[in-house]
Amino acid sequence: MITPHRYAVLGNPVEHSRSPWIHARFAAQTGQALEYGRQVVPLDGFAAHLGTVRQHTPDAPGLHGCNVTVPFKGEAWDWVVQQGGHLSTRAALAEAVNTLKFGRDEQGQPTVEGDNTDGAGLVRDLTVNAGWALGGKHILLLGAGGAAAGVLGPLMQLRPATIVLANRTVGRSQTLYERHRGMCARHGTRLVPVRLAVATLMSLVTDHGGFDVVVNATSASLAGAMLDLPPRSLKPGGLGVDLMYGPAARPFLQWVHAHGGQGRDGLGMLVEQAAESFALWRGVRPDTAPVLAELRALVDAAA
Ligand code: NAP
Repeated sequence: MITPHRYAVLGNPVEHSRSPWIHARFAAQTGQALEYGRQVVPLDGFAAHLGTVRQHTPDAPGLHGCNVTVPFKGEAWDWVVQQGGHLSTRAALAEAVNTLKFGRDEQGQPTVEGDNTDGAGLVRDLTVNAGWALGGKHILLLGAGGAAAGVLGPLMQLRPATIVLANRTVGRSQTLYERHRGMCARHGTRLVPVRLAVATLMSLVTDHGGFDVVVNATSASLAGAMLDLPPRSLKPGGLGVDLMYGPAARPFLQWVHAHGGQGRDGLGMLVEQAAESFALWRGVRPDTAPVLAELRALVDAAA
């Protein structure tokens, strides 16, 4: 009998994560033998926890891989660096890791790969699932936390004309800008780090006649609050995306609709980033469309 390989999502909190459900669907669809659970990690014990769960010996196997969620993506990146593991280019640029793969080299020594699939998940959802072309567009990216760091590089690869990177703590926008400035020059994208404040954004809104796309990568809606944005930030018919889904995405999506835009929540990104992790671990890409449709029905029914 084949012993299923074990995976999990690690975070705090993690009780409401949909990842175990999504990966169970992917495994059933592709005939892969795996188990996927969730592990609540103490806030001050992420590295110690990883040391205990990574695969040790064939007799006492730990996890073959894991997803990492709030608030540990930065610590996961640190941990891979400290272990001398391999970072994908996109994880190195984001300085945030949401996917770890554990293995062994030819000498039997433990190996670790760190990746960040968030940006690829968002880009695939917007371009493939929603059919949007972002090349040449003016994008306003709100937030400079782990999620914004993960999506910035992949968004830039679509060669938008502009990305304005607006964050409440302006130093974090500037740090992200410094890391991506070489890439923006190569892709011909103008990257502008600013403070997320009406007065600062107003002139940029005027410059572009509003943004074609506004991406909310802040966690502001978790408190039920809508961000303070200038009027006409989003062009009529433009795209407004909240990386959250369910009730948490509502304040932003209501704002998008009130300004004549088309809204999209983060559920498609969630399924697509999971598919990207699954492909890294298992070498098989699942069909995301039926999984997203089923999950959408579940989330709508629960709302
Ligand atoms: P994070 O690292 O904690 O960053 C939070 C960001 O939100 C920071 O930029 C923070 O600004 C900003 N922020 C928080 N409260 C704010 C407020 N009241 N006003 C303005 N800005 C505020 O979190 P994260 O990992 O980036 O995640 C952000 C969101 O994306 C989360 O809600 C998460 O659920 C979602 N997400 C979704 C997916 C998906 O697959 N759909 C994947 C990843 C993340 P400061 O820097 O000033 O504190």
